[in-house]
Amino acid sequence: MKTSETARNPLRNRPPEPLIIPRAKHPISRKNIDDKAIKILYRLKNSGFTAYLAGGAVRDMLLGQRPADFDIVTDANPKQIKKLFRNSRIIGRRFRLVHIFFYDRNRATPQIFETATFRRAVTLEEDDLARIQEEPELANNLFGTPDEDALRRDFTINALFYNIADFSVIDHVSGLKDLEDGIVRIIGDPDQRFTEDPVRVLRALEFACRLNFTIENETAKGLMLGAPALAGVSASRLREELRGLYSKKVTAGLLALGQQYQINQHWLPDLIAGHIPAVIPLIQQIEHFFPLAEDDNELEKMIFTAMLLPGILRQCPLADGDRLNLIQEKIDENLKPLNERFSLPRFQRHAIKEIFTLLYRLGRGDKRINQLLKRDNFFAALFFYAVSTAATTPPPSHFSFWAQQGERLNRSSKARGLDYGSLFNINRTT
Ligand code: ATP
Ligand code: MG
Repeated sequence: MKTSETARNPLRNRPPEPLIIPRAKHPISRKNIDDKAIKILYRLKNSGFTAYLAGGAVRDMLLGQRPADFDIVTDANPKQIKKLFRNSRIIGRRFRLVHIFFYDRNRATPQIFETATFRRAVTLEEDDLARIQEEPELANNLFGTPDEDALRRDFTINALFYNIADFSVIDHVSGLKDLEDGIVRIIGDPDQRFTEDPVRVLRALEFACRLNFTIENETAKGLMLGAPALAGVSASRLREELRGLYSKKVTAGLLALGQQYQINQHWLPDLIAGHIPAVIPLIQQIEHFFPLAEDDNELEKMIFTAMLLPGILRQCPLADGDRLNLIQEKIDENLKPLNERFSLPRFQRHAIKEIFTLLYRLGRGDKRINQLLKRDNFFAALFFYAVSTAATTPPPSHFSFWAQQGERLNRSSKARGLDYGSLFNINRTT
């Protein structure tokens, strides 16, 4: 049993002792950890369990940044966790974990803390899944020790633990050194780890952009080899992974790295992959001019519109706005492969189509402000109108009309997260 498992999973050949950094030698202070996360950690610890902060929270605090969320790992199993926390729910079929909810009058949605039991680094085969369904107790074998849990994680910088028992940082994978050196390095055998979950290819690029880190050589080779497997990743998972990027403003950077490593054609429809050099500056503009937008849905429709725009403008120049029917056909035609790849809900497809329709209306000189302002997607369309005509000299005749509406539109645009004033000023002063 042991030998076949080792053969199947080289990650189990692991270094025996972790590096333990005592509180005095690292910068993570309890003051920087969310109160509720501290509460959860202490309740687990006081009930006799091991309890660590893990993943991005430890990485970000070591870098002196405020973490987006605080994930917890423990040796308590999901049922034991559930018993300790009234406001919690067990989720997931394969690797069950527990969501602990905190309700706050000032927030629209509850704050969720993901609390997982240490996992083993196993790749499940179809047979295993079927067996677990018949004998649920077998699932306990999926739970592992802290070192096994660290080794099944994606990158060394994401596999550090913070131990509430003595406030130390525990490093099973030399992640601290990589964090200091600014390196994104996959844990284990790169070819195997990227093929086993191709989403890690995109995650490697994401962390390189977010942290301004370098991708280590073997990791880079592995991700290029694993990238074709991205074609097989489910549309909903791909969409979720991408949605995590928008508010962090790293989508343009990820596409640029994707060009460098020549992998964009493996995860984007042809119309988009074929126009990346024109798509990147558009997304940079979104990241620049929508500094106030926080809603992921708002940003998502903008990003996908930006991805489609260069290809569609190529087929139907803005000046062709008179042929709106033809343009709408083109948009439908191009939304299809996009939807197959990312499984966009109907309201998003509808919004993207409306942005394009309004954009072409602006292109042919529609100036009925009162009517246009009633449309949800007017500012998105006006933004694309500004950025896609900004480089044209002389500026199109309708452009100055919109620039002159400054103050009035500036006020309304703020609600949509758009910095309208600077959009028009900056573009027109050059
Ligand atoms: P963020 O700041 O975006 O939340 P994060 O590193 O916490 O960054 P999450 O997506 O929240 O990223 O995942 C939490 C942790 O789970 C990661 O740090 C990593 O250890 C592990 N993880 C996430 N996705 C994968 C994956 N595809 N393969 C292996 N481990 C993963
Ligand atoms: Mg996280």
